[in-house]
Amino acid sequence: MRINIVAGNWKMNTTPSEGVRLVSEIVEKAKGLSNVKLIVAPPFTHIFSVGEKIRKTEIGLSSQNCASEAKGAYTGEVSAEMLADAGVKYAIIGHSERREYYRESGEILLKKLKLALANGISPIFCIGENLNEREDARHFEVVKKQIEEIVFNIDENDFEKIIIAYEPVWAIGTGKTATAGQAQEIHAYIRSVLSEKFGKKAENTSILYGGSCKPDNAREIFSQPDVDGGLIGGASLNADDFIAIAKSF
Ligand code: PEP
Repeated sequence: MRINIVAGNWKMNTTPSEGVRLVSEIVEKAKGLSNVKLIVAPPFTHIFSVGEKIRKTEIGLSSQNCASEAKGAYTGEVSAEMLADAGVKYAIIGHSERREYYRESGEILLKKLKLALANGISPIFCIGENLNEREDARHFEVVKKQIEEIVFNIDENDFEKIIIAYEPVWAIGTGKTATAGQAQEIHAYIRSVLSEKFGKKAENTSILYGGSCKPDNAREIFSQPDVDGGLIGGASLNADDFIAIAKSF
């Protein structure tokens, strides 16, 4: 069954102690929320301390990345196996900031996706077009290619564990949001592309919207039939805003 998800991508924000304070507030304010799965993605340095605060709750722990190699001489990298052993259940993979600033190609992302899945971690796999591509009306073509070159190479049973995040790059951190109609149009399209390969299983895939999602626009976006929640950047750093977004279903 498809579930509603609101995931907070903290990016490179909060010190470990600030992160613990933030998640403690989220735990407190999330009490009683039952129709949405909350996920937090703190930086690697806070995985244990934040994980400990949510251990007895329904809130899921995510990383923001994982290595594209299983283990060995890769200084500075953190493997999917290490993350799984540290209690991580989800990993954001393919965020546009990773694709752009760290040159993560489709080939690298596929390796990350496979390693996450092999270690029992559900990927939150990000796709989306940039501003030029949207202005040239190439957004459908772009997301289709991102899905075909990566997600189509995942085995059918593993596909069930994948969460998709549609994040138009022009809406991330810019204050510009896709309209509810634009979100629904492309989410439905993404689901139809997924169904070409995975059939009815695509009906159960949670497809999240990401890009300047805030308490005042979440309700309209989440009301769309193919929008199953959000991947939240800036607004996830404030517990009140994050929970207000989660209460928008
Ligand atoms: C993100 O980076 O995943 C994101 C959606 O950021 P923001 O909400 O700040 O636009």
